[in-house]
Parts: sequence; structure tokens; C-alpha cells
Amino acid sequence: MEIKSETITVRDLLELKKSNMLTVNPEYQRAAVWTESQEKKLIDSVMRCYPLPLFYFHHKVRNIAGMQSEGLEIIDGQQRINALYKFGESALKLFDPVKDDKTARFPNFIKDSPCPWARCDFLGLTGDLKNRFLDTVIFMVKVSTDVEDEARDLFIRLQAGLPLNAQEKRDAWPGGFTELVLHFGGKQEIPRYPGHDFFRHVVKKNARDRGEGRQLCAQICMLFFESAAQGNWIDIGTQDVDDYYYRNLGFDTNAPGVTRLSQILDLAVQLFAGQTSPKLKAYEAIHIVLLLDSLLDDYTRSWHANFIGAYDTFKAKAAHAKKEQVGEYWTEFGAWTQTQSAGARTIQRRHAFFVKEMLRELNPVLLDPMRIFGELEREIVYYRDGKQCAVCGQPIRWPDLEIHHVEEHQTGGQTVVENAAPVHKDCHPKGQQAVEFKARFLARKRQQEEAKQIRPHLVLPYDDSDSPDDAAPVRLQPAGSRLPPEGTRCRFTYAANEYRGTIAEGRIEIEEMPGSYGSFSAASGAVSQTARNGWMDWEILLPGSDDWLPANIWRNSLMDG
Ligand SMILES: [Zn+2]
Repeated sequence: MEIKSETITVRDLLELKKSNMLTVNPEYQRAAVWTESQEKKLIDSVMRCYPLPLFYFHHKVRNIAGMQSEGLEIIDGQQRINALYKFGESALKLFDPVKDDKTARFPNFIKDSPCPWARCDFLGLTGDLKNRFLDTVIFMVKVSTDVEDEARDLFIRLQAGLPLNAQEKRDAWPGGFTELVLHFGGKQEIPRYPGHDFFRHVVKKNARDRGEGRQLCAQICMLFFESAAQGNWIDIGTQDVDDYYYRNLGFDTNAPGVTRLSQILDLAVQLFAGQTSPKLKAYEAIHIVLLLDSLLDDYTRSWHANFIGAYDTFKAKAAHAKKEQVGEYWTEFGAWTQTQSAGARTIQRRHAFFVKEMLRELNPVLLDPMRIFGELEREIVYYRDGKQCAVCGQPIRWPDLEIHHVEEHQTGGQTVVENAAPVHKDCHPKGQQAVEFKARFLARKRQQEEAKQIRPHLVLPYDDSDSPDDAAPVRLQPAGSRLPPEGTRCRFTYAANEYRGTIAEGRIEIEEMPGSYGSFSAASGAVSQTARNGWMDWEILLPGSDDWLPANIWRNSLMDG
């Protein structure tokens, strides 16, 4: 990288822009996002002879058909150049520090000083002031490099700490995964990345999309390529997406998985074509793509015709549950969309419920009637029972999963998930063992049902921390445990503000506060900046309950019980 520092006047800079010699590389630039107020303030600084920060350009010389073209690509300074240009074209009127105080909010010493350019556009300035503007010296850095990635890298480093959002920074990463996400997710500023119709038309879009659509696309790609539905669920929070981009600089955009993902997105577009209900939210889009992945291979297409109907039924039940905040549509799904958690366990838990309900509605027909269970049924049974073998209680890897008919096939047992248990190949019970297994399995199931009825809000169906010898995948939250169960809402009024939170992944997440807290006292400390006994501060709303109760009362009830 060769670097030259030079000075240039605003006059020259505007000439370069008028002659189209300043270009923007849309692959790593935002669209113009400065507000008019920011633009006016920049020009005000220029009029006060305040120095401006450095401008960075990539000096590009290209030889095409024996001719040479030269130009400057803006690496940093685009918003400032736009503001200078707009004012130079007399398309911007400056602030009057006194009369425009409501929006301008200049400090008092500025308001007290004379301001001969107040509410002027360029043409309204005196000759002296026009020259002051045009003769302003700008410090620029010209970078020459043949390596495009070096310019991108410089851009990323310059942006560090500036309000470019996470996805906008990722778009500037070199490498295959960036290319893939731009290809499917689309970037409207770049004609060659229109994006897949799934992200353009099926998914709900933010009017001022600054990369949310591509971030969702990246998250879906991560879950899809890491085979989430087959057991490898991963976190997809901001840092996790960054890490994934970094680890996949060498991603091969011609990999077979890319073709499959493309087929799935095509299918989703086809299924949702012409439908009138609201567009998909981000979490819905994730579940739909993963569900279609599971449905693609093992079933006849008969379910295509039912799909929208089935999905509408699911949505209707979920909406009802959200309003009432009771029932499994709430405890197993709705509550888990509230925390907006990008944690692997949260997504997995929602997905397990979604897949189970959709299977019931879709009732897909296996392509190969000799095959015992399809991908979808296997998934449901696998997650329902906590990825554990129903015989030995040890974890099962997805590729080693076999499904056992509890009531055996030859004695009339049906091939339905209710009659299925996940087992290791070596554990698969036969003959007398199968009879004994059935008795144990049914007894355990009865116990679980009873437990649910007694204290519905205390049941934690998929607890990874279950010990292997406690083969029952359902158990009660132990007394004295530090926090109420996942999905519990909590609230605390302090200094006339109400703080609301949710228990997610064993921690308290408070709305509009970063991070999470391991105890109520830590949460109270974060809110109040003092040491407090959080059990006395917070009220909680357990999943499945309608009543807020003081956290310490809930804790005491566990100790008594
Ligand atoms: Zn086993």
C-alpha cells in the first residue's frame, strides 16, 4: 500500500465530484445516512474555520483498451463530501444558532457570537464568505494499492468505533461467505446483488434496512450449513456472526449445500406466493427454512398444498397464546421469541416445538413406505427426549440415532412420534427387552404427565444438564436454585422507572440494558448502581401463570415444598 498525504481545497474537491472523478464503492459504503442537521453542522464548522478530519481516497488508475482512466474512490469522507457538495450547490440552508436553537443546540458562546451566514444557502453568502468556504483546505490521504482487499481492510479499520453497524462492516469483509450473503440477502445499492426473492418478498423488511436482511441471511446460512436441525445448534448473536465470517473467508460458493439452500428458498417463495398474511419475522424465517430442509427429501409433495394452511393454524394458536401467556404455545414457543435471544438452546427449543406442531398439521407422506421414520419425525423424537438414548440415558449423536417403536410394529404399534423412542443402534431393544422397555417407558411418561399437572410452570422439558442415570428428561427445578425457570418475566420499579426483564439461558436479561445478570441482586445492582437484595426488589411472572408474585415469596415456596 502506497500512501500520499496532500491538501486540496473544497473548490477542487467539488470540481472532482462534478466531473465524476470521485466514486463510491457501494460494496463497502453505506447509502447517505447523515441527517440534514449533521450536514448543516459540518458546514457551520467549515465557516468557523474548524479543521476537518482526514479524508481517505483509494487512487485508482486503470488501463482499458489502451487508454488510461484515473479516479478517486472514497474510503472515508463520503458523508462529509455529500454535505459540502449539497451546500456548494445551494441546496442547504445553514442554522441560525439562536432562532434554530431547538434543532441546532449550539453551546451558548456560539449563540452569543455573530453569525453572518445564519439561514443562508451558498448563493446567499457574501463574496468573502463564499471564498472562505471554497478556499477551505482539506487534508487528504491518497492510497494506491493493487490489492482491493487492502482498501477494504483500511475501510474497516477506519470505521472501527464509528457508527457503522455490524452487518455493514461485515459486508466489507473479503471472502466467500460475504459473497454468499450478498448473493442471497441482496444489497440494493449494488445491481449485481438483487438478493433472493425469499429475502425480498417473503421476509418482512425494515424500511430503512441497513443490513438487517443480510444479517438474517447470514444467520440462516450459519444454521443451515452447520446442520443445526441435525443436532449442531449454534449461537447466532452479533459476535458469533462476526466469528463465522472470519472463519469462513475461504467459503466455497459452489459447494453443494449452496444449491440446496437455493432450492429451499425457491420452494419457500413458491409456497408463500400470493399469500396475504403478514410477511415473516426473522425468527419465523429461520424456522421455515430449517423445516423445509427437513421436509425436502423424505416425503411426497402432498404437503405442499397444506403448507400455508398449516402455518396459518400455527400462527393463530401462537397469537392466542401470546395474548393469554398460557399453554405450551406460550411456554414452548411464544415466550422464547420475547427475549430475542440468539442463543442456540433458545432457537433449538422453539424449533422443536414448531416442527412437532407443523408435522401434526402437515401430515406428510413418506416417499419410501419401507422407511420407518422420516427426517422430521426423527428430529422431533430426538429433541423431545433431550438427545438422549431412552435405554442407556447417554447422549446420542445424530448420525447414530435409531428410532424404536415402543409398541412394536408387529403387535400393531403405529409409526407415529408418540410411539417412538430415540435409541443407540446397540441399545435398540429386541424381544423380551422390548417388552420390559415398553413398561418402563410408559410408566415414566405417566410420571411426567402428573408432574406437569401439579406444577406446570416448574417443568423444564429439555434440560441438557440432566444426569444420564436420571433417564427421565423431565424434572423439577431444584429448591434453592438461584433463578426462576426460563421464560419467566420479571419487573422492578426503581426511582419511578419500571425495569422489565426475562429469564433466558439461566440469566436475567433486562430490556434496554446490555448484557445479562446471574442473580436478582446483580440485576438490582445494575439498575440502581447500589448493592441491594434483589429477591426483595423483583416481582416475577412464571411461564403459564397469570399472577405477578414477589421473587422472595416464590423462592420461599420452593424451600417449603
Ligand atoms: Zn443407548
